[in-house]
Amino acid sequence: MMKNILLCLAACGLVAFVWSKGGFGGGPQNGPDPRWPIHDKNRPLPPVVDPGPASPPVAAPSDAAVLFDGRDLSQWTDEKGAPAKWKVENGYMEVVAKTGSIRTMKGFGDCQLHVEWAAPAEVEGEDQDRGNSGVYLMNLYEIQVLDSYNNKTYADGSAAAIYGQYPPLVNACRKPGEWQSFDIIFHRPRFDQDGKVTAPARMTMFHNGILVHDNAVLSGPTENKARPPYKAHADKLPISLQDHSHPVRYRNIWVRDLED
Ligand code: MG
Repeated sequence: MMKNILLCLAACGLVAFVWSKGGFGGGPQNGPDPRWPIHDKNRPLPPVVDPGPASPPVAAPSDAAVLFDGRDLSQWTDEKGAPAKWKVENGYMEVVAKTGSIRTMKGFGDCQLHVEWAAPAEVEGEDQDRGNSGVYLMNLYEIQVLDSYNNKTYADGSAAAIYGQYPPLVNACRKPGEWQSFDIIFHRPRFDQDGKVTAPARMTMFHNGILVHDNAVLSGPTENKARPPYKAHADKLPISLQDHSHPVRYRNIWVRDLED
């Protein structure tokens, strides 16, 4: 009897240990894989998957808020709250280097976000210096935008990475200049009255229709060379797009609020 109980406890312990290390594949990982330090160049790169040809813009469903319909930046401001200065033409917006990142005027928490983007058709630079931008949830949690087509960089900085935390499950990048899509399901972190985390942020995501994050649990805000802990913040904060000085294009951005 006692022996059985001990065996059972040992088995439970082993299961908990493997789970805590992000084992069993497919299940939610409790934070970034501790085997790989941030931006580790030795970390295996995500396998390349051909997503097939680009499709026309995906129409916004009737309950979505349209953040950019190709016409103007009326839903966006720069980092200081002044009108956004990115270029708008032919149904897309394009990063204007050094004008700064742009953010939505409205805030969002839990949401489903659809974004279409294209890396510059004219290939310039390499590694992180090629078609770099980013989509931030709550202005804190970055999904990397990068030209990862035949362009090596560190795994957790690839296109569709949760920057510095999770490489995408696969590299589903289309060629530079071709339109690509991100579909993100985001759950914001929860904090108690003392500012302690009661539930971390989670993301599930598709790149060009292919699963790249399966309920990934974020360790905190994303940063370059750092994985800082959470700091309590508002329930709704702007979605933002990064100016990394490369002329990346965006079109057809819409969001469905999943709060309540
Ligand atoms: Mg970026």
